[in-house]
Amino acid sequence: MEFFMRHVTRYRIYPSQKVAGRLFNGFARCAFVRNWCLENKVYRDSCLPKLKEEHPELKEVHSKVLQNVVQQIVHNLIALRRLKAKGRKVGKLRKKWVHSMIYEQTGFKLTGNCLWLSKIGELRIELSRPVPGRIKQIVVKHTPAHRWFVAIISETPDTPEPTAGTRAVGIDLNLENFSTDTDGTVFPHPHNVQKAAKRLRRAQRRLSRAVDGSRNRRKQRVRIARIHEQVENRRNDFLHKWSRYYVDHYDYIALEHLNIKPMVESLESKIRGRSKSILDAAWYKARAFIQYKAANAGTYIHILDPAYTTQDCFLCGHREKKDLSQRTHACPVCGYTVPRDLNTAQNILKRASVGWGTPESTLAEIGAATPPIPAVQVPVGEARISRL
Ligand SMILES: [Zn+2]
Repeated sequence: MEFFMRHVTRYRIYPSQKVAGRLFNGFARCAFVRNWCLENKVYRDSCLPKLKEEHPELKEVHSKVLQNVVQQIVHNLIALRRLKAKGRKVGKLRKKWVHSMIYEQTGFKLTGNCLWLSKIGELRIELSRPVPGRIKQIVVKHTPAHRWFVAIISETPDTPEPTAGTRAVGIDLNLENFSTDTDGTVFPHPHNVQKAAKRLRRAQRRLSRAVDGSRNRRKQRVRIARIHEQVENRRNDFLHKWSRYYVDHYDYIALEHLNIKPMVESLESKIRGRSKSILDAAWYKARAFIQYKAANAGTYIHILDPAYTTQDCFLCGHREKKDLSQRTHACPVCGYTVPRDLNTAQNILKRASVGWGTPESTLAEIGAATPPIPAVQVPVGEARISRL
C-alpha cells in the first residue's frame, strides 16, 4: 500500500481588477448554492444540474467548485453532529457570505508565477517556495484585510520511518519565556508579535472612537484587519521556526498539556499586560505545529499531565510549592539549584520517558539520551537563539 504525505502551502496572489471581480462573483454564486441547500435541506450535489438550469448564472462557476460547496456543508454537518454527540451545545449551520472557493483535482493549472483557474482566468502568484509533490486542491481566499491568498494542498508519496535516534528533549512552555528545554535552550517571546499586538490595541481604541457608519470607521476596520493578519503571520512564522528547530534537532520530544496550568499564572500575566488567552492560543498552535511536523519526520511526541512538574525537584523528587516570583528552583533537601523553568522541563522529560518504547530498552535509552544534569546554573536567562 502506498502512503501519501499531505502538505499545505500558502501563497499570496495578485488578481487584476477584472479577475478579482470574477472571483467575487464566484463567491456570490457559491454563497447562493450554500444558502439554497441549507434552506431546502438538500445535501447532495446531484441537485446541481437542475439548479443550474433554473439559475443559468451558476454556470459562471467551475462545476467542481460548486460540488465542493455542497460537500462542505455535509462535512460541517457531520462535524456538528459529532460535537453534539459529545454533549456540546451546538447551533445550526447558518446562511452566510462566502470568502473562498475550493478547486479540487480539476480546473486549475500552475505554470511558473501564473495560476490559471477555470472560469476565472490567469492571475499572478508569488511562488515564494516550490509546491511539494502533486497538487490536489487549491483554495482561493479573500481576507478581511483585502488581500488574496491561495492555499495549495499537495501530496508526496513518502512514508515517514519512525526515527531510530535517541536525542530526547523536554520542553516547558511558560510565561517568563516562550519555552525552556532540558538542554537549556530558551526561546524568548517573539518581540515582533508583541509589538504588533500593541499596535492592534491602539487601533482598536481608535475604532471605538470613530463615528458609527462613517467612512473613517470603515477604513479603520480594514486597518485593524491588516494588523490582525500581521500578528497572525508573525506568530505563525515564529511557531513554525520553533517547531522546526525541535523536530530537526531531536528524536523524542516531551511536552505538557496546558489546559490545566495553574490559574495563578493568568493573574501574573494580567499584571504584565500579556493576555493569558492569547498565550494559550499560541501554545496550542505550537503543539499542533510540532505534532504535524513530528508526524512527517517520524519523531516521537509525548504530551503529558503537567501536575507538579513545577513543584517537584528533578533530582530528589522533593515536592514544595513555589511562589510565582521564585524564578530559581533551589531544593531545600538536596540542594539542587537551577532556573525554575529548567527544572520543570527536566521533570517533563523524566516523566515522559517512562512510557517510551519497550520497558527494558526505555530507561537505558533515556539514560543515554538525557542530557547530564548541569551542576551549575546554565545561562537560561540569556537566549541562546536570539534570532532564528
Ligand atoms: Zn531535591
